[in-house]
Amino acid sequence: MPRVLLLFPTTTYRAEAFLRAATRLGAEITVATEEDTALTGLNPHRLLTLDFDDPAGAVRRVAGFAREYPIDAVVPVDEQSAVVAAALAAALSLRQNSLQSTLAAGNKYRMREILRRGGIRTPSYQLFSVDDNPEFLAGEVKYPCVVKPLILSGSRGVIRADTEEDFVRAFRRLAAILCAPDVAKCGAAARQILVEDFIAGKEVAAEGLLSGGKLHVLAIFDKPDPLDGPFFEETIYVTPSRLAPTAQAEISSCVAAAAKALGLTEGPLHAELRVSEAGPWIIEVAARSIGGRCSRALRFDGGASLEEVILRHALGMEIQSIQREQEAAGVMMIPIPKGGILKEINGVVEAKNVVGIEEVSITAHKGQELVPLPEGSRYLGFIFARGATSESVEVALRRAHCHLDFVIEAEVTKARWHDVGLVGPPCRM
Ligand code: ADP
Ligand code: CA
Repeated sequence: MPRVLLLFPTTTYRAEAFLRAATRLGAEITVATEEDTALTGLNPHRLLTLDFDDPAGAVRRVAGFAREYPIDAVVPVDEQSAVVAAALAAALSLRQNSLQSTLAAGNKYRMREILRRGGIRTPSYQLFSVDDNPEFLAGEVKYPCVVKPLILSGSRGVIRADTEEDFVRAFRRLAAILCAPDVAKCGAAARQILVEDFIAGKEVAAEGLLSGGKLHVLAIFDKPDPLDGPFFEETIYVTPSRLAPTAQAEISSCVAAAAKALGLTEGPLHAELRVSEAGPWIIEVAARSIGGRCSRALRFDGGASLEEVILRHALGMEIQSIQREQEAAGVMMIPIPKGGILKEINGVVEAKNVVGIEEVSITAHKGQELVPLPEGSRYLGFIFARGATSESVEVALRRAHCHLDFVIEAEVTKARWHDVGLVGPPCRM
C-alpha cells in the first residue's frame, strides 16, 4: 500500500475530506501536525509532529521516519504547509513543486516581482515597512489602492483605500494585525506591507491541477458579489462561470502563464483574477487547492472529490477524468456580520430545505468569539448548492442565507487589543 504524508495545519477545515479520499484510494496515511496530540505517542507511524516553519528540521525528522515507513507522496493541505512539503518532497525525491516556487507563491511581493518580470498582467505595487510613517507615504501612493500583508490569507489584513486619510488608517490597522503574536512569529515578511493599485472588474477564481508543468483547469468560479472593499470578504463561488468562453479561455492561459513564471509544476493551484476590459489580471496564485470546505462544491466524473484527484496525482495513480460533473455547483462562505460572542444559530433547518441546497455546515460554535475582517480569518460556515444552472445555484445560496440568523452579542474583547500592546482598537473604519 502506498503511504501518503498529509501536512495538516492546526486550524484546517480540510482534514476530513483528505482522510476520506486517502481511505477510498487504499493509501496508508501518516498525518503531520504542528502540535502534539494525546495520541501522537500511541500511533508513531500514523502521527508525526513537525514544525512547519522549520523546513530543515522537518526534513531531518521525516527522513528518519521514512527509513522505517517509506513515504510515496507528501501533500500539503493548505498554503501554510506548501513550503515545508516542497522541502520534504525534494529530500525524498517525490513529485512536488520546487522549494523556490512555493516560496515565491507564498509571498505576495515575490509573486508580484516574478509576474511583472514575466510580462503577466498584475497590479502595480510598492513595498513598505510596518515601521514607516504612513503620513509620509500617503502622497506617494496612487488611489484607489489596496493595502495588504505579504503572507496572510483569506483576505486577512487586505484593505482598500480611496484617499490619503483612508490610506493612513488602513496602514495602521494592518500594522497592528502584523504585530499580533501569531503573525509576528512569521519573521521578516510579517514586517512588510504591500500597496497595490486597485483593479476594478469582475472577480473569478480558477482551480487547477499542475502535472509535469502542464496546467489542467478544473473549474472557473464566478464570485457574483461585488468585491469593492474596503474589506474583501469572500462569499459566493459558482461554477461554471457565466463569462463568455473567450474570456474563460483568456483566464486559463493567464493562470498557466503565471504558474510557469512562478515555476509551479505539480499539484493543486488556486488563482484569483479580476477581469477588466483589458482582460484578466492576476490577483493571486497559490500552490494549494480551494480553501475552507469549498472543495465540496467540486465533483468529478465517477464521483471523485477534489482531494481524491490531488492524492491520485501526488501518488502517481491513474486519473480517469478531471472533467467536472455536468451540474452547476456553488458554495457560500457565510460571512461574519459583526464581531462578538456567538450566542445562537437559528434557521438552519429552513435553510437546508431551500430547493437546490445540499448542505448547510455551520463551523462556528456557540460561545465562540467571532472576529470579522480585516482582523479575523474564519467563517461562520458554508452553504452548498447544486442545480441545472449557475443562476439557480446562486439564487438557492442567497435564499438559504436569508433563513440563517446568527445571534451575536457584540463585545469588543479588550484582551485582543492588549495582546498587541494597544489599549483599544488601532482605529475604526
Ligand atoms: P489573500 O491571500 O488574503 O486572499 P489577496 O491578495 O488574494 O489576499 O486579496 C484578497 C482579496 O482582496 C482578493 O480576492 C480581491 O477581492 C481583493 N484584492 C486584493 N488585491 C487587489 C487589487 N490589487 N485590486 C483589486 N482587488 C484586490
Ligand atoms: Ca486570495
